[in-house]
Amino acid sequence: MHELALAQSVVRIVEQETAQRQVNAVTAVVLEVGALSCVDPHALDFSFSAATDGTIAAGAKLKIRRTAGAAHCFDCDEDVKVMSRADACPNCGSHKLMVTGGDELNVKAVEVN
Ligand SMILES: [Zn+2]
Repeated sequence: MHELALAQSVVRIVEQETAQRQVNAVTAVVLEVGALSCVDPHALDFSFSAATDGTIAAGAKLKIRRTAGAAHCFDCDEDVKVMSRADACPNCGSHKLMVTGGDELNVKAVEVN
């Protein structure tokens, strides 16, 4: 269950983000999750509820946005977007792809009261 560790690091980022501001409560956290990351959104959502318990983000909503992964195709020599590691090149249908990005997690926005 690495989702719990991820959720805890999200909470730490949220606490840093809100430390300098007059914040009553965090209402939502927008998290961008790369399509190629091995994160289960449901598990992450569940872990987030547990990890925020007793913090400024208690009760906050986790809004997960999936972002496309990036890959390079060796056959048509293009940089393309893919939604899974099993995807073929959207240009030429080749499977000779090297994944170059899309497994990252980013806290995009912290909505507060
Ligand atoms: Zn291609």
